[in-house]
Amino acid sequence: MPAPRRSDAGHHGAARRGPVSGGGVGHAPARSAAATQEVRRHNLGGLLRLLHVRGPTSRSDLTAVIGLNRSTVRALTTELVEAGLVRESAPVGRGGAGRPSILVEPRSEHVWVLALDVGVEHIGAARIGLGGVVLDRRQRPLARGDGTVREVLGRLRGLAEPLLAAADTKPVGVGVAVPGIVGMADGMVRLAPNLGWVDVPLGRLLGEELGTTVPVAVGNEGDLGVVAEHLRGVAAGASDAIYLSGEVGIGGGIILGGRPLTGAGGYAGEVGHMTVNPAGRQCRCGRRGCWETEVGLDAVLRACGAPDGELADVLTAHAAGDRTARNGMRAVGRWLGIGVANLVNVLNPEVIVFGGLTRAIFPVTEPYVRAELAGALTAPRGQVRLELPGLGADSSLVGAAELAFAPLLSDPLGALACAEPT
Ligand SMILES: [Zn+2]
Repeated sequence: MPAPRRSDAGHHGAARRGPVSGGGVGHAPARSAAATQEVRRHNLGGLLRLLHVRGPTSRSDLTAVIGLNRSTVRALTTELVEAGLVRESAPVGRGGAGRPSILVEPRSEHVWVLALDVGVEHIGAARIGLGGVVLDRRQRPLARGDGTVREVLGRLRGLAEPLLAAADTKPVGVGVAVPGIVGMADGMVRLAPNLGWVDVPLGRLLGEELGTTVPVAVGNEGDLGVVAEHLRGVAAGASDAIYLSGEVGIGGGIILGGRPLTGAGGYAGEVGHMTVNPAGRQCRCGRRGCWETEVGLDAVLRACGAPDGELADVLTAHAAGDRTARNGMRAVGRWLGIGVANLVNVLNPEVIVFGGLTRAIFPVTEPYVRAELAGALTAPRGQVRLELPGLGADSSLVGAAELAFAPLLSDPLGALACAEPT
């Protein structure tokens, strides 16, 4: 099983490096054969990734974007067609030379991954096809306290089985998003404080539970969320972006200079555990006054006078002008803004995406967030956009699919050779 890595999800680098010309590589025959093979693998991956990100594209446009000659692109496309990964359809429109150009499209129904999203209060599963198309999905609420590893594994299987049974082909990979700190090298969930998980080998356990031999890759929901928003959402085109995640706590994913920020061991991005209020409450991580103890779900409910209530009820009360809810959201908005201002000062992002819990909180606290942000350093403050996710509630789920597609996109034919027969 390939090591599930946080950085795998952000393998855009391979495509950005672009194709490699096969001409003049090496001189000795053996080396030349190996090098040619490597070039072909690289170019096949680059072409497939291009189609995965752009969707259906004419062959003439592919040729123009990828920068290889027309006959090479035709040969590569034919290989991908023969492997069952893409299809070509009748010419539509006009090619660059004035002739109609064949349309090449990913076979999304045929080539897909199982994407799983483990939350503290819900679990979700989806079949996501090549090209990022959500083909089928299931979601269930999870009562807080039901998040034991065994319980979650069983429920994920319950969601996944009908998805797998309804498909004509088997998945080429499985990706899972979790609200926890995930080891870069082994996919081990080191700590998921709001689920109460410590050192859970989730990838291996899930592979056994699902009875699958395809790789099961595990990633942090914030890391996966930022990758998805960067690829297909409001952070597309931004080289520096932060995605806030979390349903009960606050997590995050960061892309800097176009690449996911992993840290030495893959644990970077835990923005919810920045200390913002040393006199604050005890956090589940063991420290006091973390950002998530001020803007996490419990803090929001408590501030709005409904410590045992539901977020939806608090938002309804807020919308109705309830004074306690309004005052509570003002306080939460200030804390949210204090953390945002810290992130802007330290990381100078182009965009901060308010996903997870903050997707519901930001719209009602935005003036207070912006008031705090006004105190950040002028230059970085002037460059940041504050946005809701372009993918709605699906950022982490779509990111889990990207993680699962990574081996196929880096070596299409090699990954298929390792996949289960369909
Ligand atoms: Zn903490």
